[in-house]
Amino acid sequence: MHPRIGVLSLQGDFERHMRSIEALGLEARRVSLPGQLEPLDALVLPGGESSTMLRLLEATGLRAEVERFVREKPVLATCAGVILLAREADRLPFPTLGALDVTVARNAYGRQVHSFTAEIEAAMLGASVPGVFIRAPRITRVGAGVEVVATRTLKDGSREPVGVRAGRVVGLCFHPELTSDLRLHRWFFAAVAGLRVPAVIALESSRSGEAA
Ligand code: GLN
Repeated sequence: MHPRIGVLSLQGDFERHMRSIEALGLEARRVSLPGQLEPLDALVLPGGESSTMLRLLEATGLRAEVERFVREKPVLATCAGVILLAREADRLPFPTLGALDVTVARNAYGRQVHSFTAEIEAAMLGASVPGVFIRAPRITRVGAGVEVVATRTLKDGSREPVGVRAGRVVGLCFHPELTSDLRLHRWFFAAVAGLRVPAVIALESSRSGEAA
């Protein structure tokens, strides 16, 4: 059957993920109300403001369904989405969903003006991809069952984790949806979620900027 991908659309840059999903020939659906997760094969948690998203998960009554989904089905989280999934994060109004055994430090790379693009070593692709960081969380602890799938090399030559995977759950601290590079989305849907990805329709013009 035709795979259906949900994008949590309470706040943040969900539209960009919808376009990346559609560019891969998959069906993208907005998720903002209870009941909408039912028919989905995978879910994307976008960037944005994690504290606002947590508040809206409560206010909309979606929290319990999302909590169940992230324990059972494939989930791709970017930036604020990683914070939602983390076991531990700082300064939030509600508990996180806890499906990824990592600790994150929110806004650890600085404020919006300190946003940057860095080269990411994406082990699962055997290649580098551009990583856009916007008030990104820093992964400060990686739990035993969690695999580091993407790293960034720091000035002193050490590597820090910026992408992690625990089974069907993937968290990326940067924003692949803000570039025209679809390789990470494709890898997630095909290799992690095990879905048939029909085609790649090139995204025109490179996308950039837009703060999440
Ligand atoms: N700083 C945001 C937060 O803490 C995350 C930023 C992003 O998703 N680009 O939720």
